[in-house]
Amino acid sequence: MPQKTDPSYDVIVVGSGASGGWVAKRLAEAGVTVAIVEAGRPHRAEDFREHRRPFDLPHANLSRDLLRRTRPTQTDCYALTEYNADWFASDVDEPYTTPADKPFSWQGRTRLVGGRTNVWARQSYRLSQQDLKGRSFDGEGEDWPLDYADLAPYYNLVEDYVGISGQAEGVAELPDGHFLPPMSMTCAETRLRARVKTALGRTITIGRTANLTRPLHGRAACHYCGPCERGCVTRSYFNSALTTVPDALATGRCTLVTNAMVYQVRMDADHRRAIGIRYVDRVTREMHELRARAVVLCAQALESVRILLNSATRQQANGLANSSGALGRYLMDHLWVAGGAEGEFPEFPVEVSLDRARRPNGIYAIRFRNAASGPRSTAFVRGYGFQGGESFAFDWRKPGFGAEWVRAVRNGAPSIRLNGFGECLPYASNFVEIDPRTVDAFGIPVLRIHMSWGDNERAMIPDMADTAAEMLKAAGAVNIRPFTVPDRQPGYGIHELGVARMGVDARTSVLNQFQRTHDIANLFVMDGAGFVSSACQNPTLTIMALAVRSTDYLMAEMKRGNI
Ligand SMILES: Cc1cc2nc3c(=O)[nH]c(=O)nc-3n(C[C@H](O)[C@H](O)[C@H](O)COP(=O)(O)OP(=O)(O)OC[C@H]3O[C@@H](n4cnc5c(N)ncnc54)[C@H](O)[C@@H]3O)c2cc1C
Ligand code: SF4
Repeated sequence: MPQKTDPSYDVIVVGSGASGGWVAKRLAEAGVTVAIVEAGRPHRAEDFREHRRPFDLPHANLSRDLLRRTRPTQTDCYALTEYNADWFASDVDEPYTTPADKPFSWQGRTRLVGGRTNVWARQSYRLSQQDLKGRSFDGEGEDWPLDYADLAPYYNLVEDYVGISGQAEGVAELPDGHFLPPMSMTCAETRLRARVKTALGRTITIGRTANLTRPLHGRAACHYCGPCERGCVTRSYFNSALTTVPDALATGRCTLVTNAMVYQVRMDADHRRAIGIRYVDRVTREMHELRARAVVLCAQALESVRILLNSATRQQANGLANSSGALGRYLMDHLWVAGGAEGEFPEFPVEVSLDRARRPNGIYAIRFRNAASGPRSTAFVRGYGFQGGESFAFDWRKPGFGAEWVRAVRNGAPSIRLNGFGECLPYASNFVEIDPRTVDAFGIPVLRIHMSWGDNERAMIPDMADTAAEMLKAAGAVNIRPFTVPDRQPGYGIHELGVARMGVDARTSVLNQFQRTHDIANLFVMDGAGFVSSACQNPTLTIMALAVRSTDYLMAEMKRGNI
């Protein structure tokens, strides 16, 4: 039983990451009272660790095997190191299950104000009209219930605040945005860009990244120290803990409740309206309740759906807002680094050193397969982009000994790697449910995740290797090494999407175009759960733009007296 009943707010926002931070900022700045209820602990000054030296850490950043004992899945995330492991959930305390033949790597489960924006790679791309209307284009999946024109003003608004550096390219498959000055490409990357455009008509651009290339809104420009996933004391990359959340708190109308693991949405006696949430305090393990006029789930797609499934009542036995049966279904991730190629550019020798500038960004090859104006592939629908760039690392594999070896390790031919990021189609057979036999350390039932790639995704993988090699060849690279990872596990893209999809038809979707549940007028899910398709671009810029748009709708509905 709950131990006490807390005060009520206009709106409860669950989660303080990319989406939750924006929702809270937008509401509080408009005069609405908000509680952000966040499972993680507060962000502290000691969380800025980007300039610490490895030998100042207890295990000199050589403790991956040790970290694996409590975080076997989180340690598979490239961004987890000894510097920041304590920001990630313990897989022992917070498990999930999968069928034995369908492994899913649920990585990046952070437990710190700011959520995944503490450690994200900041790549920020818009979706195009073609991405939003995939079904109309090729008959697969469903169309989104909104157009690019609906989202464009919100992309502008978010970009103007977040600060995205990038280069406008005028390519329909990847709409341009409001960019800060682009970061520079290296000589080899510039050659690749120029020759690929000339020979193949494909566009390679500098990564569009949420790192500031000039000061913005009191935040300093990036000084290229490199390891953003360890924090940034100059606030030069976008982290909601240091931007949107403080903005919301500065209004005096936002309360931040931390270490609060939301378990359920509470409903009124008629089971028609949400009246608040129920959470477990992660420190005291006590149950608490909060009340509000509206509840907005922003806990990251899988966690938000877990809350809805755990909120099942006798009247809504399949989970809240699930009259369609679509809740938990159509799970998507990106086909991450499943195919690509690497090649060397000996004409542009580089000397690698420890104190060089480290550009926290790579290059991006814009999707060219199945473009609206181009030929259609017979092997698969949709497409993929490439992320990657020149390696700035010492080449320890060089043969030799002594001073000659040291010279060889430091002075190599630069190599460029192109890693494919492919679109994943929404399949009803990829779904999550509550595992009735397993609870986490707080007594909350956990998710059982069922996901595997379909034929369409598998068909993309060899094509990624072929076209990456083709581009490197066109640029004059040598020693080209294509690669495929045919058994790439779902989850590695860390872009879980679609499990409470939007749609015009309440019989086949969970949310309307403003991410309001069709079933419950004052319950919203404003993270990536609402995505109807995954496109091949990283999703967070779109998650934020959608969240702001939906928040404006929520406020309009409150003004109209509908909420
Ligand atoms: C290593 C890494 C690299 C990435 N790189 C990119 C990239 O380059 N580009 C890109 O677009 N995206 C990237 N992503 C994904 C991106 O971080 C997410 O898409 C984005 O943060 C999702 O926003 P969100 O608000 O849905 O969730 P989050 O930002 O994860 O925030 C969710 C918050 O909810 C809290 N929460 C969870 N469950 C509960 C609960 N039951 N009760 C209360 N609070 C809860 C969590 O603690 C968390 O703070 C990356 C992610 C990782 C981990
Ligand atoms: S590289 Fe730039 S954004 Fe990243 S931590 Fe360093 S200063 Fe901050």
